[in-house]
Amino acid sequence: DVRHGPILYLEDVTVSFDGFKAINDLNLTIDDGELRCIIGPNGAGKTTMMDIITGKTRPDHGSVWFGSRHDLLTLNEPEIASLGIGRKFQKPTVFEALSVFENLELAMAADKRILPTLTARLSGEGRERIDEVLATIGLGELRQRPAGILSHGQKQWLEIGMLLMQRPRLLLVDEPVAGMTEQEMERTAELLTGLAGQQSVVVVEHDMGFVRSIARTVTVLHQGSVLAEGSMDQVSSDPRVIEVYLGA
Ligand code: ADP
Repeated sequence: DVRHGPILYLEDVTVSFDGFKAINDLNLTIDDGELRCIIGPNGAGKTTMMDIITGKTRPDHGSVWFGSRHDLLTLNEPEIASLGIGRKFQKPTVFEALSVFENLELAMAADKRILPTLTARLSGEGRERIDEVLATIGLGELRQRPAGILSHGQKQWLEIGMLLMQRPRLLLVDEPVAGMTEQEMERTAELLTGLAGQQSVVVVEHDMGFVRSIARTVTVLHQGSVLAEGSMDQVSSDPRVIEVYLGA
């Protein structure tokens, strides 16, 4: 498993809604193992961009490649997910009545395309994977507790863990720290930076302090295309970025 070059490649992608270009000639390359932050004002096209990658929205034109082999525009949503592209929406959607462990078990069962029943006996390998993921998300101690008792932050980590059960190659994460305490944000920064390298992680986030704490490369979207790209220091001192954010 050699890691080099782009894992995700969007070229000249345009999406219109009733003639309005939500995405306008967007070019974006994500490298294998990279942690990338996408920022931009409301309406910049961040959600639409994620929808294109996962196959929820079809562009008018352009191309979207995953690795060098997969033309995502020829695939439907489940096919794209099965390539190893996982998406975490802003609101956590864990199964509150089930334990932390059972949530992860269910996520694995879904991967194996067997009926997701809680009585499904897991192989030793499956249990090992759950232990690994529990350690990664820091919820080992709470494994037998119902997910409903978790804090907001812990639920977000559990949901990331559920995606990790599928061993994704690319994780798309929408506003992971919205509503989190400072401490939870720090833990989330550790989690996401730890995941990068093993998989690519794309984070859409509004909290600039958080972005600064995790990002190597930041992409600023504006009116559906890339306005600036570089380190947080580079983009935050870019006059065009300042203008967009301050509305000058
Ligand atoms: P962001 O996530 O950066 O806030 P979005 O991708 O949600 O931006 O939206 C980009 C633009 O496209 C906005 O102007 C939004 O109103 C418009 N838009 C998004 N989805 C639709 C849709 N299904 N129909 C019409 N307009 C849409």
